[in-house]
Amino acid sequence: MTEPEFIPFSPPAFGREEEQELIDTLRSGWVTTGPRTKAFEAEFARRLGVAHAVAVNSGTAALHLALAAGGIDTGDEVITSPITFPATANVVVHQRGTPVFVDVRPGDLNIDPDRVEAALSDRTRAIIPVDFAGTPCDMDAIRAIAGRRELLIVSDAAHSLGASFDGRPVGTLADVTAFSFYATKNITTGEGGMLVTDDERLADAARVLSLHGISVDAWKRYTPERYTHWETLAAGFKYNMSDLQAAIGLHQLAKLDGFVARRRQLMEIYRHRLGDMDEIRFLEEAPAARSARHLCVMIARTEELSITRDEILQALQDRGIGVGVHFRALHLHRYYRERFGFRPGMFPNAEYASDRVFSVPLHPGLDDGQVERIVGAVREVVTAGRRRRFQGASTTA
Ligand SMILES: *Cc1c(COP(=O)(O)O)cnc(C)c1O
Repeated sequence: MTEPEFIPFSPPAFGREEEQELIDTLRSGWVTTGPRTKAFEAEFARRLGVAHAVAVNSGTAALHLALAAGGIDTGDEVITSPITFPATANVVVHQRGTPVFVDVRPGDLNIDPDRVEAALSDRTRAIIPVDFAGTPCDMDAIRAIAGRRELLIVSDAAHSLGASFDGRPVGTLADVTAFSFYATKNITTGEGGMLVTDDERLADAARVLSLHGISVDAWKRYTPERYTHWETLAAGFKYNMSDLQAAIGLHQLAKLDGFVARRRQLMEIYRHRLGDMDEIRFLEEAPAARSARHLCVMIARTEELSITRDEILQALQDRGIGVGVHFRALHLHRYYRERFGFRPGMFPNAEYASDRVFSVPLHPGLDDGQVERIVGAVREVVTAGRRRRFQGASTTA
């Protein structure tokens, strides 16, 4: 018997267009930030309907620049969700700020706006809502709170490129939005990210800080017309995107709508085929939220099961299916416990999810046969892990 082929968790979806553009870029003699990065930024801004897009070399860089450009500094408190990737809170620490976690809503695992109010202090300067699994946060509620206190809203939209809230695309809902083009994200440039904003001052500051804090970017420094002296305006970072990354990004962006449509279709199949199982549940979403379907996250109701989440992960992996965990609650990671004193019990909804979430493959290259295999495996593993609730009934009958 031959082993069934392994289904990877989230491979990138590249075609001939990306390959050809990369070759053309190599042959052009210009590989760092240049015409393709400028074109990628312009097309990105146009599609989302935002004034400014700054291409950078990671989503983390976009988040960090948003805080730095927004003036977040020593001792400032920044509110965010514990159900996220470490980068979201790490960048607060990079600015010598203090991350303040607020619990998530049990339905969509997005930050609970009702709890944000209680976490505000005199030192609160910003909020970083995370659009978990691609489903936008309740931005109207978050804006209402932030507006009263003039807080900066930085959207962590690493999962939500292609999503919208009340018909408005993610990217237009916050003061600044950070996207990631990491290998597994809805579009990828290998590594990469984008900061978008309508605020010209923030955009200019982010752009300068993205390239050492100098006054002129590389493309302008080396144009044939004239030599330009440049000046260091701030101790900036080395976060600029290369034209090799932008070459890939231009074509990935053109394919975004198709990618998201296929993701939505796949998610419908998963919900339809597994929605009857009491022991697992899918995430919910607010009526106004249209998700970009970045992840297929399920919550194993382990109180109804005799197996743990980790045993489910292993059993799926043994059946040739790539799996993920999004996310183990960040406040319980060692650094955050030791440095900031976070403890178990502080954020019950996040902690409940932390021990129970597992993600199965959801990417545009997944075919219907693979989805059926994954559905079958989840059903088999969860069914086998069912508690035998009526044990003993047959002996007394
Ligand atoms: C991937 C991710 C990031 C970081 O993006 P990189 O491009 O890998 O730096 C930040 N936040 C969330 C929620 C992510 O999933």
